[in-house]
Amino acid sequence: MNTSIAPPTITIRRQRERAIYNRHPWVFSGAVQAVHGNPEPGATVRVQNGAGEFLAWGYWNAASAIQVRLLSWREDEAIDADFWRRRIRRAVEARTEENLIYEGGAPVAYRLINAENDYLPGLIVDRYGDWLVLQALTMGIEARKPLLVELLDDLLHPAGIYERSDVDARQKEGLPPAVGLLQGREPPDLIEIDEHGRRFLVDVRNGHKTGFYLDQRQNRLLLGNLLRFDPDAQERVVLNAFGYTGGFSVYALDGLAKRVITVDASAEAIALAKRNVSLNGFHVNEDDFVVADVFQRLRLYRDSARQFDIIILDPPKFAHTQRQVERAARGYKDINLLAFKLLKPGGLLMTFSCSGGVSADLFRKIVFGALIDSGREAQVLQTLGPGPDHPVALTFPEGAYLKGLLLRVW
Ligand code: SAH
Repeated sequence: MNTSIAPPTITIRRQRERAIYNRHPWVFSGAVQAVHGNPEPGATVRVQNGAGEFLAWGYWNAASAIQVRLLSWREDEAIDADFWRRRIRRAVEARTEENLIYEGGAPVAYRLINAENDYLPGLIVDRYGDWLVLQALTMGIEARKPLLVELLDDLLHPAGIYERSDVDARQKEGLPPAVGLLQGREPPDLIEIDEHGRRFLVDVRNGHKTGFYLDQRQNRLLLGNLLRFDPDAQERVVLNAFGYTGGFSVYALDGLAKRVITVDASAEAIALAKRNVSLNGFHVNEDDFVVADVFQRLRLYRDSARQFDIIILDPPKFAHTQRQVERAARGYKDINLLAFKLLKPGGLLMTFSCSGGVSADLFRKIVFGALIDSGREAQVLQTLGPGPDHPVALTFPEGAYLKGLLLRVW
């Protein structure tokens, strides 16, 4: 430890120490008993108990409800450039060397750094072929952005690093949105990526999140495989609700489904979905691409007695805060109830929630409620989550935001 100058120090209330021993990375303002040494926004702080004993190192932001995000629980670990390099390298090597991600020589896309879950709170980095897209979600990361960009460039030599820090979470940190090139060359308007041999065009400037829902790559592959091994695939009609740029749709077509209907409220997303379908060598049937509100569209299908063999329900985050969970639950119940009614006997429902405030348990209960109201029967074939490029730290349950169920419906 560099002790030439005492680092700013945060003393934690006694009854709030346990979470730190349990390596939860967040220290809320209510847990802070005293602040010593006037830390700058984003500064590294020493976290101690009332007796002055070391608990952890973290970075500080007085403006946030989460005033400290913890980085290390080892007193002798200096939080210097080398610390950040080690952490970034660990995250990157876990993706590449352990072969969690199939690359096959093609330009690939996956999450390289998953923030708190990679013990790098506030930092998201996604790889899209030769480019990296970065999100700095906190003051601590914002303050270190030049260093982090340099380390990423050094380790990975990307063509460029583009920033998409235009997320609501920044407001809670007292930060404005930030978007633009950080390093290297501007990405093209659309980056073409390869995902399990399927190709997609990704708009990293204007697309959702960093451009693509990378967290669903494993579940898209699962859908493709379900159809590939289905002897009657060619008779299957698939509804991809909240389809964005056609991720699940391309896999369904590739699995030889007879018809795949993609519904999304965003005209831009649907336009790109068509291009992605065509890029993979499939005919674009205009009627199968629908710009509409899924809640209304499902009712329309119900009223016209339409039936599907497979339905994917991958809605956006309905609950952004704990207070919105009840309303979100009603939304999830509504679409799942409608989906149950629209499925042929023996059909499959792949249903998801990406609301952090809705636990896997609660989600299951909501879907259960919808099933009972629908009068149908269903079996869980598989519980679903993100792929291994989106690890969840065991000590950070908030990291498990994406949960889903694959159901057989009778
Ligand atoms: N399954 C997709 C990701 C879906 S993200 C994939 O694998 O890529 C959620 C999508 O829902 C977004 O594209 C958003 O435009 C769309 N959306 C949000 N609210 C909607 C609504 N009420 N009706 C239809 N689409 C909606």
